[in-house]
Amino acid sequence: MKKEILPDLYTIEIPLPGNPLKALNSYIIKASDRNLMIDTGFNRKECFEAMQEGLKELDVDLNKTDIFLTHLHADHTGLVSRLATDSSTIYFNRPDADSKGGWDHMLVCAGENGFPENQLEAAFKNHPGYKYSPETAPDYTILEDGDKVDIGAYHFECVQTPGHTRGHMCLYDEAKKLFISGDHILIDITPNIACFSEDEDPLHDYLNSLDRVDKLDIDLVLPGHRRVMDDHRARIQELRVHHRHRADEVLEILKKGPLNAFQIASQMTWDITFPTWDMFPVSQKWFATGEAIAHLRFLESNGEIKRDRQGKVYTFSIN
Ligand SMILES: [Zn+2]
Repeated sequence: MKKEILPDLYTIEIPLPGNPLKALNSYIIKASDRNLMIDTGFNRKECFEAMQEGLKELDVDLNKTDIFLTHLHADHTGLVSRLATDSSTIYFNRPDADSKGGWDHMLVCAGENGFPENQLEAAFKNHPGYKYSPETAPDYTILEDGDKVDIGAYHFECVQTPGHTRGHMCLYDEAKKLFISGDHILIDITPNIACFSEDEDPLHDYLNSLDRVDKLDIDLVLPGHRRVMDDHRARIQELRVHHRHRADEVLEILKKGPLNAFQIASQMTWDITFPTWDMFPVSQKWFATGEAIAHLRFLESNGEIKRDRQGKVYTFSIN
């Protein structure tokens, strides 16, 4: 299903079956020389078919199309190898291009945060990043913060917004006050901020990235999922408040005594409909634990909590 949003700028809605995100917005900008596609959908049949249909309706020739990837998640990059032709330039950011295949490291970190060892393999095998990523990594053209991407009447500047992933990148057309936000700013759902690494603090990175985007002059935000929005500042404020509430919820849980991240995740409130934590699918436990770790890391670097190691596993307590 295609939709024209602005002159020569279209969205193709790519379904994500069985995924709470429901669909991905792939954006297509048509120009007389080269077209630009922004994000692709999962590497799976339903996404590929919807993309083919949308491209046909828009009369887009993939031989004249370049691809920009906002970040490494498989719902954004999965089809890139199947859609790219010999002449395609594939734009990507350095940190995400380099962090492909970091599974071993993530699994160790999950184990150290109390994720049950006997569920690690299932968590990994059920992860969309494992199931629906591109089979082969194409050659990327790396873009840095501030680089320019011109396409027809659109003149974008790359705005790097680490947080949702290490190198997440948005596109900003200052003259048109247009911002292509990937998963940095979404409305109706909250971008997932997760951490499976010892030396990162993605929630601080994310909040700093929100502060930066808050200052931009924007009339229209085109996100990677759900609907477009016009008031980016109101949404950014809601996202800041949301994360402070989540951090406060973690503090409240820790008042009862030291716990590891997996135990904390099991006591946090989640928007999914399972009566008990034990009934959560293993992939949801994985996402929840990652989100808990991100909030713990944030509180730890604020000096609000401290981390100790008991044997193999980290526990957290209020300072
Ligand atoms: Zn994402």
